[in-house]
Amino acid sequence: MEVLTSKRFEFSAAHRYWNPEWSAERNIEVFGKCTNSHGHGHNYVLEVTVAGAVDPVTGMVINVSELKRIVGRVLEGFDHKHLNEDTPYFRDCQPTTENIVQVLWSLIAPELPAGVRLHRLRLYETADIFADFYGGATANFGRNYQFSAAHRLDSPQLSPAENTELYGKCNNLKGHGHDYRFEVTVEGPVERETGMVINLVELDAAVRPLLDELDHTHLDLQHAFFVERPSTAEHVVAYLWQRLAAALGLRLRWIKLWETPNNIFEYGVHEP
Ligand SMILES: [Zn+2]
Ligand SMILES: [Zn+2]
Repeated sequence: MEVLTSKRFEFSAAHRYWNPEWSAERNIEVFGKCTNSHGHGHNYVLEVTVAGAVDPVTGMVINVSELKRIVGRVLEGFDHKHLNEDTPYFRDCQPTTENIVQVLWSLIAPELPAGVRLHRLRLYETADIFADFYGGATANFGRNYQFSAAHRLDSPQLSPAENTELYGKCNNLKGHGHDYRFEVTVEGPVERETGMVINLVELDAAVRPLLDELDHTHLDLQHAFFVERPSTAEHVVAYLWQRLAAALGLRLRWIKLWETPNNIFEYGVHEP
């Protein structure tokens, strides 16, 4: 029996994006404020997920205190450092979330005990921006977005009595609403020149029209997609996928939707 075990770590570090092969104008155009020559910093959060068989004696995949020791030792080289200046890893590449997570993989994976393998690293640069790495030729980059909308669950294929019976309070005639939050994950090779799978500006530009369309509206009354089908979170996530797949193409990998903090729906290409 193989089980995935995850542990969360934190470190704080400064960094700066700057490609010496480019002009100052080009750097500012691509990296924006991240080019500030004095650097800026983040409270990074690293989620380490390992996989392995459960040891019949200890009942564990890995002793969490051992994982803490291994990852803690690696992060000593990153915590309260300037990633460009104080570490050797970003001389020839940008200290982007995508590149940092790959460097961390190369440092953590060989230190794990026999029978335990690194399954996934997720590195949050902020609470809303993260990169995932599974050890392959590509990385994932993701960001959280939010919109607020009203809706009413009502299936055009059911009678009023059946709708009331099925959806209860969610069938309230005048509607109710949510702060919908969703996480968009894009997969691709990390570009050498930028250190990115996708520029945040490009991802934001792809998502913006969808947010403008949905935010502060009534899903059922203002959007054709929900006239024909109930605005369940399953259909909302399918709609987000349809719209974002058109904008981002095959790079779109995963959408996770929180209808409320407690109701979560996911759709996309499954994890490896
Ligand atoms: Zn930054
Ligand atoms: Zn609802």
